[in-house]
Amino acid sequence: MRFDPLDRVRELKNPAHFQYETVDCYLCGESECTEFLIGEEDLTGKDGKFLYVECTSCSLVYQNPRLNIDSIKEYYDSEYLAHRKKKDWGFLTPLYEWAMNKLDRDKEKLVQKYFPVNENTRLLDVGCAVGTFLLYMNRKYQCKISGVDFKEDLDYPGFEKIDFHQGVFYDQNFPAESIDLITMWHFFEHDYDPVKSLGVAKKVLTENGKLIIEVPRLDSVTYRLFKNKWTGVQAPQHTALYSKKTLVEILEKNGFEIEAYLPFGAFPPYFYIFTGTYFKFIGKGLNLDRIIVPYFLGQFLLFPILLFKNYLNLSMQTIVCGKK
Ligand SMILES: [Zn+2]
Repeated sequence: MRFDPLDRVRELKNPAHFQYETVDCYLCGESECTEFLIGEEDLTGKDGKFLYVECTSCSLVYQNPRLNIDSIKEYYDSEYLAHRKKKDWGFLTPLYEWAMNKLDRDKEKLVQKYFPVNENTRLLDVGCAVGTFLLYMNRKYQCKISGVDFKEDLDYPGFEKIDFHQGVFYDQNFPAESIDLITMWHFFEHDYDPVKSLGVAKKVLTENGKLIIEVPRLDSVTYRLFKNKWTGVQAPQHTALYSKKTLVEILEKNGFEIEAYLPFGAFPPYFYIFTGTYFKFIGKGLNLDRIIVPYFLGQFLLFPILLFKNYLNLSMQTIVCGKK
């Protein structure tokens, strides 16, 4: 008998106000699928169990059914890590700030290797949140900065310097060939219409422009360790979980040429090791105030392993592509 995702999700006894919609595979358009895993919002500990299926034709893993776009909004509240505010962590504040700034510096390093940004570069960051990466790049290289984010009321010192567009990326009207470099740091796995987004990206990029995408990697060591407690599941926000194969395929199929594939990203794999261990053995709902000391302690202890993070396929993947 054919597997029915809607029937399966009804067994999960979710809050009655959830509104679902079924989706066909983002990569190949087929609808036949099998159950892959049941995921939860382990980071904040919010209610809800969500079904991920594997496409029978192309093996893409994606959430199906998914919450409709209005129902998903409650999951993007101010606690969400990417939309950080300045916070006081006592004596650890400088260490926390250093770690968050390091993420922007690591993104910069990655970008500069494949697309050296200068004062003429028009840089667009999709899913820019409060825009710390854009502001950092603008301070350092004087490049022109644009950003898109789904979230409203974002604010941060200097935020007004960004040409900011609120809403869904594929609804934005950027002029054709008006951007030299598009970055998507942990945006693509949230996208409700990745194919449409790639179409928009292709249109707005200049002929020699580049698109850089970082997402969690399904066929990685941390997924194998933690399975449905893997931080990359993050349901319901993550609409698809990409392996190397499915990420490469969706880009090639939509008019991009892969210039580099990296089995790592700017995002620290240690975060996935720590949180996966926590969700698996302690429970869901991460209270940053309570875990910040063990977090940095663990990072210190794992330092020898983390030195080799770019070679171990721990959790992330990054792809650099140009237009075909
Ligand atoms: Zn498929």
